Amino acid sequence: MGSITIDQAERLAKSTSVQDFRLDRLATLYFFHPLRQRFSEPSSRRIPILMYHSISKTADKRVSAYYDTHTSPAVFAEQMRFLRDNGYRTLCIDEVLSQLQSGQKSNEKCVAITFDDGYRDFYTHAFPVLAECNFTATVYLPTSYIGYTAVQFKGKDCLTWDEVRYLRGAGIHFGSHSVTHPQLRLCKSSDVEYELRCSKETIENELGEEVKSFSYPYAFPENYTHFKQTLRLSLQACGYTNGVSTILGTMQNPKDRYFLKRLPVSSADDTSLFRAKLEGGYDWLHSFQYVAKMAKSGVQ
Ligand SMILES: [Zn+2]
Repeated sequence: MGSITIDQAERLAKSTSVQDFRLDRLATLYFFHPLRQRFSEPSSRRIPILMYHSISKTADKRVSAYYDTHTSPAVFAEQMRFLRDNGYRTLCIDEVLSQLQSGQKSNEKCVAITFDDGYRDFYTHAFPVLAECNFTATVYLPTSYIGYTAVQFKGKDCLTWDEVRYLRGAGIHFGSHSVTHPQLRLCKSSDVEYELRCSKETIENELGEEVKSFSYPYAFPENYTHFKQTLRLSLQACGYTNGVSTILGTMQNPKDRYFLKRLPVSSADDTSLFRAKLEGGYDWLHSFQYVAKMAKSGVQ
């Protein structure tokens, strides 16, 4: 008695390496979030759009916690129950935009929950918890990986069309995440057109309803002004009315409805950091990321 087991030691080491040495976490919890709480206007409306990928236990050990796209089922359930117990209402992306654009002041807490890549673990691990909390979510599908039987993307099974239809019937929203999940900035314009149009049509044919929202695959090249303008026009021409990106932040004033900001979430988000993210306490990181991107790419 009194000694710790190997399992406990491993968990301690993991929590130390993942959380305690995350500078973004420390700066958020001890500086930026308290600053935001003290000085932000109580009436200013803020809606976070959460970005999840896979709800599974497999953490990606090759990348830092910030870039990990896995959220364990236990942590995901904890995060959803935190939202429910703190009075959050979930919205689809259309509703986020209409709420923010209406300019109405409200103290109601709202959040949008999104999932990229169309993994099947949404059906097996995320949906039961969302249903228990009476929450909706938006799932973005890379259509060449969605089949009539399970197809794998990055080594994981994706949803089938039968599952997508079942989930739609249960109140889950769907958007496009392209056809083949390419880095669109490096594609020919005809290929970009194909990725946007064909994925939209495929989902519309399967679901029998209009698809309005697009999620940009990979890190969004927000500093490439010309590319952004071209992509915005292509999205409009294909009939999309909004889109989400990896630009970091909570939504306040949607200046560009096609490249909405989101907050990445993973297993590394304990309740304190999750709460800070929801309340805008993590938005500070975007300025640093933007300057770093500009310096790296050397573009205007
Ligand atoms: Zn993706």
